Amino acid sequence: MPSTRTRPAMERGLHERDRVGLQDFVLLENYQSEEAFIDNLRKRFQENLIYTYIGQVLISVNPYKDLPIYSDNDIKEYRRKHFFEAPPHVFAVSENAFRNLIEENRPQCVLISGESGSGKTEASKKVLQYIAAASGNQGNVVNVKDKLLQSNPVLEAFGNAKTNKNDNSSRFGKYMDVEFDFSGVPIGGNILNYLLEKSRVVHQSGGERNFHIFYQLLAGASDDLLQELHLKRNLDSYYYLSDGEKGVIPRIKDAENFKAVQNAMTVIDFSPEEQREVFNIIASVLHMGNIGFTEEEGKAKILKPESVQSITDLLGCEVDKLFEALTHRTIDARGDVVTSPLSREMAIYARDALAKAVYDRLFTWLVKRINISLQSGATDNRSKKKVMGILDIYGFEIFKKNSFEQFCINFCNEKLQQLFIELTLKSEQEEYNREGIEWVPVEYFDNKVICNLIEEKHKGIISILDEECLRPGDPTDKTFLDKLTDRLVNHPHYICHHKAPIAVQKVMGRDEFRLSHYAGDVTYSIVGFLDKNNDLLFRDLKETMSQTKNGIIRSCFPEIEYLSKKRPETAITQFRNSLNNLMEILMVKEPSYIRCIKPNDLQTPGVFNDELAVHQVKYLGLMENLRVRRAGFAYRRTYEMFLQRYKCLSKQTWPTYKGTAKNGVEILVKELGYKPDEYRLGITKIFIRSPKTLFDTEDAFQD
Ligand code: ATP
Ligand code: MG
Repeated sequence: MPSTRTRPAMERGLHERDRVGLQDFVLLENYQSEEAFIDNLRKRFQENLIYTYIGQVLISVNPYKDLPIYSDNDIKEYRRKHFFEAPPHVFAVSENAFRNLIEENRPQCVLISGESGSGKTEASKKVLQYIAAASGNQGNVVNVKDKLLQSNPVLEAFGNAKTNKNDNSSRFGKYMDVEFDFSGVPIGGNILNYLLEKSRVVHQSGGERNFHIFYQLLAGASDDLLQELHLKRNLDSYYYLSDGEKGVIPRIKDAENFKAVQNAMTVIDFSPEEQREVFNIIASVLHMGNIGFTEEEGKAKILKPESVQSITDLLGCEVDKLFEALTHRTIDARGDVVTSPLSREMAIYARDALAKAVYDRLFTWLVKRINISLQSGATDNRSKKKVMGILDIYGFEIFKKNSFEQFCINFCNEKLQQLFIELTLKSEQEEYNREGIEWVPVEYFDNKVICNLIEEKHKGIISILDEECLRPGDPTDKTFLDKLTDRLVNHPHYICHHKAPIAVQKVMGRDEFRLSHYAGDVTYSIVGFLDKNNDLLFRDLKETMSQTKNGIIRSCFPEIEYLSKKRPETAITQFRNSLNNLMEILMVKEPSYIRCIKPNDLQTPGVFNDELAVHQVKYLGLMENLRVRRAGFAYRRTYEMFLQRYKCLSKQTWPTYKGTAKNGVEILVKELGYKPDEYRLGITKIFIRSPKTLFDTEDAFQD
């Protein structure tokens, strides 16, 4: 039993294992100073203490090296503990969410954000690792856990790539629901995928690669398989692998990873036929890249018929049909069907559009297929299932050149910020009201105005973009920009070239517009907006794909699509709809936040770049987060829980106490010497202003 002696408060109230810096930013005296914030982060990083809290928000700094803090023993350290009973850790966040879900029946979600390379995906895997280890093991559950864990290598092989920022960069957004029965045993899962960066299939920037799976297949497949796929092992043979990083990269273990992917597909119940169809599709994408064109009298001619032949062999379609579809275009204008030859330029455009569509739809098919497998362990208790979501999605992006993709990603971040405000700031104030705590509301910037600027019906940027894409005549990126400026010139968050301050004008092109996002100003180049939003795939190619023998391709290109007279939804509208759907899913859940920070641009351990960290602290809105946290009560616990843990600290409540939990807590806080301003007693909970108070109490408990 811990002694009742109250030890003099240690200077910072630290856990034994974690004595450097402040483990909660709320303790920071100079809490409005960015410098003090960064100092603390750096100090801890240098001691390998990569986790720090702002209240219940976890800040994680990527160590770029394996730390011995994720073992089964570490998991045990966090099991059944409250947030502040052990040092900050992703396991503490996972435990907290898992407990609230299973014991209190409140649906949970863990929202992970940060820029590329900051450690989001690794954090999401640690959450899953924790849940798999902490949850029950009855019945078929090992199988379900295996499938949940093995979905990662498959999705990473097809959805991740080496970029200049991250050797294993996720090029899609991912939301995964893990489903449990009433007792906390995992029974299944469901994954939603967002906006795969499909342009990477046909083009990579210097130093970057195409999606991992292409290299894995070429390095890891047997000679027989390669021969059947009409492939050579040599990377130089493929045009679609030729733009970016050349040759084999020793630190990326493609051959090994290919085996892991094959194994994972088997665990997820992909049949040998399905696996074969998937690799046939991957190979056919490589062959598509190799179809070259020349031009005779303005008409495209195919240069490498053998590549077309390989595709037709692999996908099972007629050679003549594919030849025709690659070099002609049929337009059905109100019943007038006209087929015309494509120029070389248009043929290349059509071929690339086909490769992108095939890959993108294969990826979505993989996610659906994994979901079917994750649902197969369904039990009778499904209706009462408990759900915990994990969101690993692209962070705010500001590059030198920002385009349609960054616009989508930053819109997504605005929506997530809105959610943060709704779920955290608003709900916090509501809780104070509910508990009868007096409380002065804190000012914060509500980014709804920016969300509206982007997505408001008829008026927002998305509507204007769609309107321009669908307009007959000759819409161009430039006419789109003119319309934007015409309609939005007076909006406080829209900045056009001619209204920009001189200093901004100097760095802004005439084909650019600028948005004042909640995280900072971003200048977008409009080049390619219309094209990317229209995302056109010619009807002839859709038709050919819908008639292949490859079952996956056939299901990805249903006949109805090319027969339909309706225009397909634009890319941005699809994205907006899927984001709104995500918001609905998240809105009904209790959130936990993990904010990831990248310490340097070198993917190297031990280097902490202050300037880089400051930027991220800003874009993640951490200073405001801290300000709001400081203004309120950092921690709250129900009287029952508080008393249960600390009752041994007073002779009046230990070993037995017969009064109400609230009275017990009143006795305890007096005995512990809490200052009056330090806590409030609500209707069902005690609210504690500073984490230091709780740490000191915890220290007294541990003594
Ligand atoms: P992107 O947005 O590009 O997908 P990300 O935020 O998902 O980036 P990760 O892929 O999770 O970044 O991390 C990049 C790399 O950093 C990992 O491959 C790993 O090498 C290293 N890393 C990240 N987190 C940790 C960690 N907790 N411990 C050790 N290494 C880590
Ligand atoms: Mg990632």
